[in-house]
Amino acid sequence: MGQFNIQSMEQQFQSLTIFDFQAKFPDDRACLSYLSELKWADGYMCPKCGNTKYCGGDREFSRQCTKCHHICSPTSGTLFHKVKFPLLKAFYIVYYVSTNRKGISSTELSRKLGLRQKTCWLFKQKVMHGMKSSGQFKITGKAEVDETVVGGQEEGVRGRKNDKKKLVVFAIERKGKGVSRVYGKVIGKSSAKELGSFMKETIQSDAEIKTDEWTGYKPLKKDFTNLHQVPSGKKGANFPDLHRVIMGFKGWLRGMHHQVENLQGYVDEYCYRFNRSNMKDGIFDNLLLRMVKADPLPYKAYCLNA
Ligand SMILES: [Zn+2]
Repeated sequence: MGQFNIQSMEQQFQSLTIFDFQAKFPDDRACLSYLSELKWADGYMCPKCGNTKYCGGDREFSRQCTKCHHICSPTSGTLFHKVKFPLLKAFYIVYYVSTNRKGISSTELSRKLGLRQKTCWLFKQKVMHGMKSSGQFKITGKAEVDETVVGGQEEGVRGRKNDKKKLVVFAIERKGKGVSRVYGKVIGKSSAKELGSFMKETIQSDAEIKTDEWTGYKPLKKDFTNLHQVPSGKKGANFPDLHRVIMGFKGWLRGMHHQVENLQGYVDEYCYRFNRSNMKDGIFDNLLLRMVKADPLPYKAYCLNA
């Protein structure tokens, strides 16, 4: 699959073995210490008043502002905020999610870590939130865009809202003979408005874009001057790479998860894995850093009955 090379992915995921991980993180204290290093790597600033001077807080690794006396722990204001189980187990979840080539289900995490499945599921949603695209790297060269139906019989009627099935629009960036980047978004319907807003988030306006002949793309030619519509072909024959990516996503989703709440989280996880497979730096460290830099996510943001 072009630049999406399984072998290079495995090499990268092997970079932090379970032995390395256990040596680096023997207990909660080591995890807290590591989070404090990540959180204040660029220096300290009080989130309440902006002061940059601090003294020790009430607990080890906490910092207290010398002006307003506000105390920050290494986890406050991050996706590790108020985690209700040992931090070491939270690190294990990040480790397993990032090093398993295809990710890991909450059922399996629950078995490995002796936590409730629901607890693992909820924390994994936070890890997935850390995988969300930063939106900084738009597709610049050759792009292809198409939507697909997930769930139900996977045969939807375009442009029509369907409550059981979900629509996901994907964009790929082609480079050489392969796919160099993938983005995806769950949308309500394939209207020009929703397709356009996804494309504006992920594709540069002068990119060379190929879509099928769906009417929803037509009005977007005024925003994207190099948008060309071509027939989709039988089973998407004119979009072979994009369709491989979509099939890959669906296969992964079916194999991994029994029920899919928060489909966007899974789209983010799939795209993150795909896009990071070409990069040299460790996925575990990258993911931890993203979780420290991200804003805390209240459970109710993605789970109505939490
Ligand atoms: Zn302060």
